[in-house]
Amino acid sequence: MLHLITNDLLARELDWCRGREALVVEQLGQDAVRALRQVDAVPADPLLGPRAHRRPVRPAHPLHLEAVLAAARAAARLGQRRAVEPRLARALQHPHSAYATVASGYDRLSSRIPCCSSTLCICANRLGPTRHPFPSYAAASVSSTAASGKLPGITTRVAPISSTSLAAPITDRTTSGTSTTDSTTPVIMRPTSAALRPPGLGLFCQKSSVSHDTDPYTIDPLLNNTKSNMLIAMATGVAPAPLPHVRVRDGGIGFTRSVDFAKILSVPATLRVGSSRGRVLVAKSSSTGSDTMELEPSSEGSPLLVPRQKYCESIYETRRRKTRTVMVGNVPLGSDHPIRIQTMTTSDTKDVAKTVEEVMRIADKGADFVRITVQGRKEADACFEIKNTLVQKNYNIPLVADIHFAPTVALRVAECFDKIRVNPGNFADRRAQFEQLEYTEDDYQKELEHIEKVFSPLVEKCKQYGRAMRIGTNHGSLSDRIMSYYGDSPRGMVESALEFARICRKLDFHNFVFSMKASNPVIMVQAYRLLVAEMYNLGWDYPLHLGVTEAGEGEDGRMKSAIGIGTLLMDGLGDTIRVSLTEPPEEEIDPCRRLANLGTHAADLQIGVAPFEEKHRRYFDFQRRSGQLPLQKEGEEVDYRGVLHRDGSVLMSVSLDQLKAPELLYRSLGAKLVVGMPFKDLATVDSILLRELPPVEDAQSRLALKRLVDISMGVLTPLSEQLTKPLPHAIALVNVDELSSGAHKLLPEGTRLAVTLRGDESYEQLDLLKGVDDITMLLHSVPYGEEKTGRVHAARRLFEYLETNGLNFPVIHHIKFPKSVNRDDLVIGAGANVGALLVDGLGDGVLLEAADQEFEFLRDTSFNLLQGCRMRNTKTEYVSCPSCGRTLFDLQEVSAQIREKTSHLPGVSIAIMGCIVNGPGEMADADFGYVGGAPGKIDLYVGKTVVQRGIAMEGATDALIQLIKDHGRWVDPPVEE
Ligand code: SF4
Repeated sequence: MLHLITNDLLARELDWCRGREALVVEQLGQDAVRALRQVDAVPADPLLGPRAHRRPVRPAHPLHLEAVLAAARAAARLGQRRAVEPRLARALQHPHSAYATVASGYDRLSSRIPCCSSTLCICANRLGPTRHPFPSYAAASVSSTAASGKLPGITTRVAPISSTSLAAPITDRTTSGTSTTDSTTPVIMRPTSAALRPPGLGLFCQKSSVSHDTDPYTIDPLLNNTKSNMLIAMATGVAPAPLPHVRVRDGGIGFTRSVDFAKILSVPATLRVGSSRGRVLVAKSSSTGSDTMELEPSSEGSPLLVPRQKYCESIYETRRRKTRTVMVGNVPLGSDHPIRIQTMTTSDTKDVAKTVEEVMRIADKGADFVRITVQGRKEADACFEIKNTLVQKNYNIPLVADIHFAPTVALRVAECFDKIRVNPGNFADRRAQFEQLEYTEDDYQKELEHIEKVFSPLVEKCKQYGRAMRIGTNHGSLSDRIMSYYGDSPRGMVESALEFARICRKLDFHNFVFSMKASNPVIMVQAYRLLVAEMYNLGWDYPLHLGVTEAGEGEDGRMKSAIGIGTLLMDGLGDTIRVSLTEPPEEEIDPCRRLANLGTHAADLQIGVAPFEEKHRRYFDFQRRSGQLPLQKEGEEVDYRGVLHRDGSVLMSVSLDQLKAPELLYRSLGAKLVVGMPFKDLATVDSILLRELPPVEDAQSRLALKRLVDISMGVLTPLSEQLTKPLPHAIALVNVDELSSGAHKLLPEGTRLAVTLRGDESYEQLDLLKGVDDITMLLHSVPYGEEKTGRVHAARRLFEYLETNGLNFPVIHHIKFPKSVNRDDLVIGAGANVGALLVDGLGDGVLLEAADQEFEFLRDTSFNLLQGCRMRNTKTEYVSCPSCGRTLFDLQEVSAQIREKTSHLPGVSIAIMGCIVNGPGEMADADFGYVGGAPGKIDLYVGKTVVQRGIAMEGATDALIQLIKDHGRWVDPPVEE
């Protein structure tokens, strides 16, 4: 998500800017750079300006920015604005952004660019902290000339902006070959809300009435700064290029596919589609297909219709997606077969004895497959020996060859291994160089032909030998071609895999699976879902291999994997999994199995809730639902605004015993201590739950609690406790029964409430929420022992209810684990059950309870969970590869060294990668990279640019620290009092 921000706003709203995915600044001067440093933003390039960390942001727009972002990124990389236009054309042709553009008249950007006809002005609105009532729009500004000349086949809507009127005639201009037809329709320019509009930004153009337009804002300030003759174009009615037979009956339907009938679930009031006024409209196309596609408004009231895509069997219960069976050696994969677990060796493949020993170790731990890197001819030769030796030792575990950049090696190893993994980003293409950013249709077609030529022999060989294949896309290693069209987006990942899959299918080869890995679980989840949605559309049924790449080590790595893999398993997706940890490969098997068990258990029991319709969750483009943080009410003596954190809250359960040692408790809560008094810090717990209150006469415990309340830490306690041993300013925890009986009314007026809900209550019970003032937060909680109720599904139902009813309460995910829960199960259970919601933007915090676990472990797990879901950064983010036969140094040891010295840099992301073959490509969005360049030598990277080569290992960690300092990202570690 990009945010366009004025320098003025940047100076004033640092807090708001902090953690945004990407900021486009008006002018990248000294002041801006200084301000951006304060918000941890990384300057990226001249057009886009600084680019903050790419974690998803809260108020994302409902439209499909992906393609527009791709165009923007491509432009930024190029530094050539003229190059944007063809990308925009493609962006508009792309089904996911067909209708997604409205012009932005933003004079500063325009004036920096000599000709607006060759400009893509990138912006996203919702620059205010509050959710905007209208749909937001990705913005693209093109002139009529550009539109007619460069976007052939697209009807554009063109309107001159007048500084005197909000309404102006617009022209629908359609270009076909050399002829252009125009037709004129009235259009209304609708301003954004004054309150939310930063100076100079936010002009909507929409074929609509002005019924919503009650804002006091006038359009003049914008127009005064805008060339009066600037032309605004809105692309409408775009038939995606690959589907020329589709006729769009009305400009309002911007999204049609190769379907006979499009069923629109509800026609937005603002949309006139032919003469239809009903709730259901059937749009006919000339396609001979017989599929039906459901369309729905992309958000409430939006004129943009998007397909109501199905990405899993059910959103209200876990039902495993049916796939075909793929045979990997003698092990069946997919369909109803168990979820297979696998890992990868780390030894040098040429060292046959060591590799064989490693494979045996892994097999003994219970893996179903083992993958081995095969980088060249010598390794391929070694593979024959490895296979033979294993067979002699009676180990028949299927072996998988991991191939990058080496089609001939793949061909050779297909003769002895059971499965070949190819990376579509580099199998036939070089690593993305950004040397060719202009792809004409011809160029694109030629590259596809080249891929087919290079890839087909491998497909034929796999057919001949009965081998399986994995088309394994990685977010960090996409080809130039894909990057130029789609950017490094989930859509790009899917398209990259589909190119290869189409070739397999053309050759009638179907023994393959897909993977869509990324180190960012949010991106990874989106990519898999998009892929499955696409497969449903296409009628394909290939199994999925799930994984989060470069997840790291220890609990961090397990948590990231649990979020990504667990989320998909809860959706019934995934047939084989690998947990990539920077640990010995056999250590991956245990978390893998725990995850597989979790997914199998959920699918076997079909955990879930009663069917409900989901209209608000956006599963293809992240959009965080931010609950309303507590506001300060008049007359309140304590400040409640800090009891929840805007980026995600951590709540902890505290016992009476802990209150007896206040200083220890403050430290455990992550507070700073100054002369024995607690202060909130970056990673301080936001609120605590006290299941039992200390007696009124226990002055010491009560004083400890008062000190916490004084630093804005919320203290939640059950209603019965608060009624019997009142604690000043505590937040009373009530359940639905207490709400319905009115028991909470016994509390003094104005007492704040936290309501515990399961999510599967009757709607009558949920309606109780509407009538109660003083609700500060909701705790979503389903008892852990309830096997049939899916907590993810129950929470989805609750969020759907809240959104439908306009209830904006913050929701905390509360899990109370049973006694003696295994530590790894806890991490995986929290990651899968809470992560599955947070990656969809559903939830404002977490409360994990487990009687037998250490307090610090639970606290750290909670913060890890929020960071893994790209919500709240409280420590350095590491991306480290799991290592393989290519690794040039001891990854675990070096990784531990680097972590020890740099773990206090929240907001900084460091990649530690074993080799330069894949390392730089796979480290995705890390700020700094430490990559094995040659034996004993390290290359250092800033972003994806190598800045120092061949540093001796001994001095490389210090050089990395110096690099971080040189880029102004270093702070000294905190000194304990
Ligand atoms: S980055 Fe290189 S060393 Fe690390 S896992 Fe990937 S290929 Fe192996």
